[in-house]
Amino acid sequence: MSTKVLNHPLLDHKLALLRSVGTSTKDFRELVNEISLMVVYEALHDAPTIATVVKTPMGRTKGTLVDSDSFVFLPILRAGMGMMDGVLKIMPNAKFGHIGMQRDERSLEAHNYYLKMPRHFDATTVCILDPMLATGGTAEGTIRELKKAGVKKIKLLVIVAAPEGIERIEEEHPDVEIFAATIDEYVNSSGYIVPGLGDAGDRIYGT
Ligand code: URA
Repeated sequence: MSTKVLNHPLLDHKLALLRSVGTSTKDFRELVNEISLMVVYEALHDAPTIATVVKTPMGRTKGTLVDSDSFVFLPILRAGMGMMDGVLKIMPNAKFGHIGMQRDERSLEAHNYYLKMPRHFDATTVCILDPMLATGGTAEGTIRELKKAGVKKIKLLVIVAAPEGIERIEEEHPDVEIFAATIDEYVNSSGYIVPGLGDAGDRIYGT
């Protein structure tokens, strides 16, 4: 099982507020960022570190710094961009790529119509950002593109995951670790996660 579900009362509190139909656009955005920070914190549990020496007011001690160059964060347009500020709060030097995905009507597979990545991204751990993992088509297409480009280590960071999406990614890409704030019940016939929170992009951007 390559899926880690976060479990914390403070996170559950924020998720309850996030889901509510009465939450304003401003609060929704802030909550997405606060929850994203928690998901990133968990996902970076094995981040490579660099040893250093720190001078404190009392003397010297050993310290460790996170090697932020070893990660690239990749929000999937457009809802994934809503998670970027949460990443930057915890890793101010974070590097970002961007990917836009659309579904091919014939093959039903998702392909990228836009991809811009920092240099040498193939040698880093790429953390895909998307608040919603529904059927997994977009995430699967993104993972496929990254692997084609030579990326060896991929993490998928989401807020709400559906069992259908988790199953698909675990089956087709068992090497990809998934980090989710919560797992919901199912994906309905319109592609929405139930109970979910509605359309994450619309709620982040007030569309
Ligand atoms: N994307 C969303 O924004 N919401 C869902 O429920 C599923 C996919």
